Amino acid sequence: KTKMRLDKMLGNLGYGTRSGLKSLVRQGAVTVNGIRVKDPGMQIDPHADEVALEGERIVYRDTVYVMLHKPAGFVSATEDNRERTVLELLPEALRVFSPFPVGRLDKDTEGLLLLTNDGKLSHDLLSPRKHVPKTYQALVAGLVGSADIATFATGVTLDDGYVTLPAALRVEGSASGGTTDGAEAAEHAGVEATREVPAFSMAKAVERLDTFPALRANRTNWREAVDAGETLSWIELTIAEGKYHQVKRMFEAVGKKVLYLRRSEMGPLPLDESLAPGEWRELTEDELETLR
Ligand code: URA
Repeated sequence: KTKMRLDKMLGNLGYGTRSGLKSLVRQGAVTVNGIRVKDPGMQIDPHADEVALEGERIVYRDTVYVMLHKPAGFVSATEDNRERTVLELLPEALRVFSPFPVGRLDKDTEGLLLLTNDGKLSHDLLSPRKHVPKTYQALVAGLVGSADIATFATGVTLDDGYVTLPAALRVEGSASGGTTDGAEAAEHAGVEATREVPAFSMAKAVERLDTFPALRANRTNWREAVDAGETLSWIELTIAEGKYHQVKRMFEAVGKKVLYLRRSEMGPLPLDESLAPGEWRELTEDELETLR
């Protein structure tokens, strides 16, 4: 079993700086297995020894696994000079573990994003050889139909010549515009829905579009399209790879534009829909087990 310095264990958990912790230990604030200790360099087994700081039991861990409902407007990076990063949505108590996003969602994409400091798990989930499926929902300008479903099932040629792996495209519904209200238009989608209404509906997606600064600024993008009588489709797509901007580029390849995109599943893990955009929670043991 690996042993570790007492002050390092406390430091790894974010309880303070190494020098601050050294003096805390020397002042007698820490017990190990019920015995007050004064040596910050004492070798302990962080998983087996019972450490308490000012009487509070400290449970050691070195990995964190976080499910974030990524909101639009944040980049999937740990640092960025200009943009807000998804790390800024986590509290300091988790950031001390140096988690990083498992793969990327575009700045304007919402939904399931895992963050961890477990390099192996991240590598396994992202490995192109593992074909971990990812499911997205999108609001697309235009009428997505059976020709698109067939094209996506065989493989789409992207702008750089890459041919995508077979992908499962489902059309949840489509709405014709002509109304002045996007949300109202979306309500008609239910009529053509091909299966049970997904947890996150087209009406919600249209509503959400109004909160996107980029789209609000450029209404020609979608609301003018609806107003002009164009059709919007609400789709669900499962892909087994993760090329740059893949979903948007797959639709571009069939001449359609993604207006809103969110991810609802990664491998066996669904987004906890009780998390609002911007909210997060740690994975449960069971969830972690299914990912391994
Ligand atoms: N595909 C995209 O185009 N964007 C994302 O954020 C994720 C998948």
